[in-house]
Amino acid sequence: MICRACDSVLTKTSIDLGKSPIANNLLTLKQLKEPEKFFLLHVRTCDSCGLVQLPEISTRETLFPENYTYYSSYSNSWLVHSKKYAKEMIEKLDLSKDDLVVEVASNDGYLLQYFQAEGIQVLGIEPAAEVAKVAEEKRNVPTLISFFGTEIALKLAEQNVKPRLMVANNVLAHVPNIHDFVAGFAVLLDARGIATFEFPHLLNLILLNQFDTIYHEHFSYLSVTSLIPIFNKHGLVIFDVEVLDTHGGSLRIFVSKDDSKWKESPSVKDCLRAESLNDPRSIDVVSKLQSKSQQVRLDLLEEVEAIKRRGESVAAYGAAAKGNTLLNFVGLDSFSIDYVVDRNPHKQGKYLPGSHIPIVNEEQLQKNPPDVLLILPWNLADELSQQLDYLRKQNVKFLRAVPSLEYF
Ligand SMILES: [Zn+2]
Repeated sequence: MICRACDSVLTKTSIDLGKSPIANNLLTLKQLKEPEKFFLLHVRTCDSCGLVQLPEISTRETLFPENYTYYSSYSNSWLVHSKKYAKEMIEKLDLSKDDLVVEVASNDGYLLQYFQAEGIQVLGIEPAAEVAKVAEEKRNVPTLISFFGTEIALKLAEQNVKPRLMVANNVLAHVPNIHDFVAGFAVLLDARGIATFEFPHLLNLILLNQFDTIYHEHFSYLSVTSLIPIFNKHGLVIFDVEVLDTHGGSLRIFVSKDDSKWKESPSVKDCLRAESLNDPRSIDVVSKLQSKSQQVRLDLLEEVEAIKRRGESVAAYGAAAKGNTLLNFVGLDSFSIDYVVDRNPHKQGKYLPGSHIPIVNEEQLQKNPPDVLLILPWNLADELSQQLDYLRKQNVKFLRAVPSLEYF
């Protein structure tokens, strides 16, 4: 396997999670009877540039199909985060009605709606047609249905599209061709424009044992160390870094043309220093992750077995990708877990890949509460704990497995 950033040969294993089906590929009742494809979930690290990565097992069109149905607006905390970002950026860049904000992977318009409410021009770019339709029809956010890369950037540049701000939240890690993607930003930005990218920080994957954020749609596990040479290759520089608590600990990096007025903030060097203390190129750092994930696997298996032996029931909450990595790695399925609840109606009625656990709505939880509820999206544990507080009165116990097994 060759590094997607620097073309070096990849020899070091970061973590090997065995085999897993494509995490977001939820199954219909009919598909349960058909053979299912499993792919190796074996993450490699690049000695040379530090990019931690998975190979591209399938095309982006297969991994992110047009009928992909993740809606950012289903998470209240994410909306609060997005609104705050919009306010900060309007102030920082002094944005007005003459300015344009372009968001790549704009989803259902969850973010651009807040810029638009302040009279600023917006354009979303989103490959999932159904999700883009919601942005257009429900929120009036103009949305181009497309993947982003150099080709679409050149077309927009021909139409004189000149954004002051470009945003890409939780998408940089999901692009197979990271150079083509970043080059697209270089095409559209001028010396006045900036781009911000948010992504889960590799440092947290390593330190907080977030091994379940590894799934096939997630190609790259990002650090500032590995991103600097990628951006530099396209005439772009990272001039500021903010540490965020979203998705279990993310970074927001600020990027501009290398000839722009923005000066590098000390935060860039601070982040590089922090990353150097847990360098993924070091074999010690890498092997710890493997043993910590194995510990979670053994603890969760043992706990679920104990619950079932007592004659009690287990259900799960949150049919997101990270839950699938956990369940498939641990080896839990519909014999152990009765159902998984998800608020997204597009997921309800389907089944998790591999484990074949049925996805139901929250009403099931009220009608048929389990003894133990396994919260899969641990990054939303606090939000869900409040939202599902009524279950505690019915003696439902809340369990999470990552970073380590814990009732809460
Ligand atoms: Zn590399």
